[in-house]
Amino acid sequence: MEKKPQFPHRRWNPLRQSWVMVSPHRTQRPWQGEVGQKTAPSAVAYDPKCYLCPGNQRAGGSVNPTYDGIFTFVNDYSALLPDSPLVTEAQASPMLVAQPARGLCKVLCFHPDHSLTLARMTQPEIRRVVDAWTREYQELGGLDWIDYVQIFENRGAMMGASNPHPHGQIWSTGFVPDEPAAETLAQSDHLARTGHCLLCDYLAAEQAAQERIIFQNEHFAALVPWWAVWPFEVLIVSRRHLGALPELNEAERDGLADVLKRMTTRFDNLFETPFPYTMGFHQSPTDAGAHPEWHFHAHFYPPLLRSATVRKFMVGFEMLGMPQRDITPEDAAQRLIACSEEHFWPRT
Ligand SMILES: [Zn+2]
Ligand SMILES: [Zn+2]
Ligand SMILES: [Zn+2]
Repeated sequence: MEKKPQFPHRRWNPLRQSWVMVSPHRTQRPWQGEVGQKTAPSAVAYDPKCYLCPGNQRAGGSVNPTYDGIFTFVNDYSALLPDSPLVTEAQASPMLVAQPARGLCKVLCFHPDHSLTLARMTQPEIRRVVDAWTREYQELGGLDWIDYVQIFENRGAMMGASNPHPHGQIWSTGFVPDEPAAETLAQSDHLARTGHCLLCDYLAAEQAAQERIIFQNEHFAALVPWWAVWPFEVLIVSRRHLGALPELNEAERDGLADVLKRMTTRFDNLFETPFPYTMGFHQSPTDAGAHPEWHFHAHFYPPLLRSATVRKFMVGFEMLGMPQRDITPEDAAQRLIACSEEHFWPRT
């Protein structure tokens, strides 16, 4: 592939309506940072001290069933509560605004085996998780006071995940949180202005460019977005225009399980480590709106930069000015394209 000019520039993120600064010339400077080591994956299938393993007691006192598939429960330490008061006290100044925030936070165990990860689960096992996510979106989103269902997985100590047991979270809220609210505005604007879906147009542009697409199956594309902030940030986009999990047909649910397995395997193989990340789905709000503008997708935000332990920090200019990256999204995509889809640590 032809080498792109390596000069500083900024790129527009139309989904977030924000910029990211790219400084590829800096990848030539000598590295003086930390040198990492490979991380050994967890090897125990059952941990008597894990609060998510089957049959164990959680800190709140509840005992997990001896589940053999998925297991879901209301978070014992929820960030939001369903019965929060509906009105907040009047504040002394309009500069001190607060609003009530109601919600319901759940935990979803992906598998009873403590040592597994999405990458090392089979495609049918991940499909079971896709079905559970879909059910949760329907049930929680179906409550008239829930306006958004945020499904996510926080993986690895580097991302603050306290427990390696394969699990994710579902925070459903009585309001649309900032990130999906910004994406709702951007997608609505694009639809009103062009008559097209923003992500359908974006995916078509990426398919034409063929520079940042890591791989595709029949139903989903995995790519490093043009505007990626994190070194190996990835966007998973459905190839058909649809707004939320319940609109996926059977084949598309299998396709989602497939794309998640293959992407997380490539991530793990990149530095031969269980790759840390925050991954989550963005989909139609469950408020009263119809949301024809919404296009279902998942974001992977991994912190690692150049080894199993060397991470990117969002500090300095990035906190005060704007996000910045050195390695280009095209180079990151090439690195991920070169990764095998056979896991470096096979499951026996
Ligand atoms: Zn466990
Ligand atoms: Zn679309
Ligand atoms: Zn999004």
